[in-house]
Amino acid sequence: MARAVFLDRDGVLTRERSDYVKKPEELEILPGIYEPLREIREKGFRIVIVTNQSVIGRGLTTHEEMGRIHEKLRFELERQGCTVDAIYYCPHVPSEGCDCRKPEPGMIIRAASDLGIDRSRSWMIGDKEIDLEAARRAGCRGIRVLTNSDQLANAVHIILSTEDSGLQAGGS
Ligand SMILES: [Mg+2]
Ligand SMILES: [Zn+2]
Repeated sequence: MARAVFLDRDGVLTRERSDYVKKPEELEILPGIYEPLREIREKGFRIVIVTNQSVIGRGLTTHEEMGRIHEKLRFELERQGCTVDAIYYCPHVPSEGCDCRKPEPGMIIRAASDLGIDRSRSWMIGDKEIDLEAARRAGCRGIRVLTNSDQLANAVHIILSTEDSGLQAGGS
């Protein structure tokens, strides 16, 4: 079974906006994310984005527009050698009580089932407590970064160094 790094989108890969990302022109990729994404890819991790997008449930944008936003994101990442295996988003507002909106673990569980991912050997990187809570409830380990910061590389280094020491411990 594959391992994955699940990534939150807004505040981690792209700039979180207080008025939401509603169209592709509003999507701004944060600096410094390409190298760490390539690194986790090279180590054999799947890359899966899991993102709450209540902006749809609030009527501020549509599924079609979200598709265009994610096409742009994939295109820009792909150009830099960062293939994304899948993007899962929750379109619901909190009051709908769905099972996908983080801190619910639904998106991680679905992605793991779709892509054959071993959740216990996978990680989630997010900028909110709800991301870590979703990771815990899905049986993954989680790392928190500051919103809109340049900390993805640090988070990835923590993952890779933990994995390396795990391998040494397992082999001794
Ligand atoms: Mg976020
Ligand atoms: Zn949902």
